[in-house]
Amino acid sequence: MLEDASRSRSGAILTIDLGAIRANYRLLRSRIGSASCSAVLKSDAYGLGASRVAPVLYQEGCRHFFVAHIDEGIKLRPCLALDAEIFVLHGAPPGAEADCTEHGLTPVLNSLQQIASWRAHAKTLGRTLSAIVQVDSGMSRMGLSPNELDAWLADPHFLDGIALRCVMSHLACADELDHPMNAQQLARFQAIRARLPHCPASLANSSGIFLSPDYHFDLVRPGAALYGIAPNARQKMQSVVRLQGKVLQTRSIEAGDRVGYGGRYLASATTLVATVSVGYADGWLRSMSNVGLAIVDGIKIPLIGTVSMDSITFDASALAPERLAPGSLVDLICPEQTVDAVASLAGTIGYEVLTSLKARFHRQYKDDAADDAMNDATPA
Ligand SMILES: *Cc1c(COP(=O)(O)O)cnc(C)c1O
Repeated sequence: MLEDASRSRSGAILTIDLGAIRANYRLLRSRIGSASCSAVLKSDAYGLGASRVAPVLYQEGCRHFFVAHIDEGIKLRPCLALDAEIFVLHGAPPGAEADCTEHGLTPVLNSLQQIASWRAHAKTLGRTLSAIVQVDSGMSRMGLSPNELDAWLADPHFLDGIALRCVMSHLACADELDHPMNAQQLARFQAIRARLPHCPASLANSSGIFLSPDYHFDLVRPGAALYGIAPNARQKMQSVVRLQGKVLQTRSIEAGDRVGYGGRYLASATTLVATVSVGYADGWLRSMSNVGLAIVDGIKIPLIGTVSMDSITFDASALAPERLAPGSLVDLICPEQTVDAVASLAGTIGYEVLTSLKARFHRQYKDDAADDAMNDATPA
């Protein structure tokens, strides 16, 4: 009942297809041989809801999960069984080490300082603590530099009290198959790994999985591809998100009339304008002004005028006005207009489109695989 009311009151409906996330996870796993496939759930699973996504991936066999911040890990912990490991990409900020151990989180240690603090924390607790150590292979963002790696290998007590789960690094250009930095980072990472015999290793994000098996090592770390973002120009994933905006009203305007803030759209003919109740405050980026599209019954209608905070306007002249009665739905993200296509219209990447989508939408989840499982379990 409540669910229905929220659906009818909201300005838009966001449907998240957990079955598609399952399918994407299976596809990724089928590409990595005997390596393990983790899942990156930072920023609330790229905006899609980590508490809903995590159990589904666990059911698919995923046991390694990555978040960016400790607080994300604390929220995620009760959604997963204890044999699932949660890794915190940013490690513990100074003084927050105990929060990791209290909540069963494993830090990625990115600097000498984080390693020293984790070592000291292990000593205080009098037990061995797990960690991943990140090394920089060319992105210059996080992880030990080559000199710091030398310092590590010269110091037999460097990891006292630390059980090294794996050494990891991150690729900067893996979405571009021919980018020379890929091979360069791989060579650097292989050289580092040769100095750390027997230590498991992890390099590939979603895009890295599709470069070549050389990039897979022991653990891959996909995020975007799970959520339907294409890992490169050739590889498609199943579409996970559908965003349907609601029509507020329609009107007919004449040649010479203007639309929206700044009057930035000038009608050149009689035009049917449809106003839809989604705006930049919902994450429909303002850079979509005069360039966005919606899809109605397979017909693309252009966004005209600037994106307002709570509404957008479309040239719906190609449609019958009855099709756009108040409350009817137009597709903003759907299989015919993927997250990547929207991103390209907005001049950004799919990651930003997904993580921009706000809580104001009515959200619903569907999971065909789980429904099947439930149906299977129901006695005839
Ligand atoms: C975000 C992130 C990932 C996941 O990257 P995708 O491109 O979304 O697959 C993997 N590793 C690290 C270190 C990250 O920050």
